[in-house]
Amino acid sequence: MRPTHCQNCGTALMEAAIVYEMIVGEELFQIEDVPALVCRECGEQWIEQEVRENLEQLAAENGTPGGHVQ
Ligand SMILES: [Zn+2]
Repeated sequence: MRPTHCQNCGTALMEAAIVYEMIVGEELFQIEDVPALVCRECGEQWIEQEVRENLEQLAAENGTPGGHVQ
């Protein structure tokens, strides 16, 4: 389900490539050029569930640089 309007303010969402930040474990990942819908009024961002899952998988695979073991 892809929203067409912002849930906060009702403004039409625009497609944009954003930098998505997420924290996996204790590490901050920044992934550039993530396709998203963005509200230019309030800055709300919406990312498709499938895209989000891919990013989380990517982070999990690329996580723990240097191979430190918990
Ligand atoms: Zn908004």
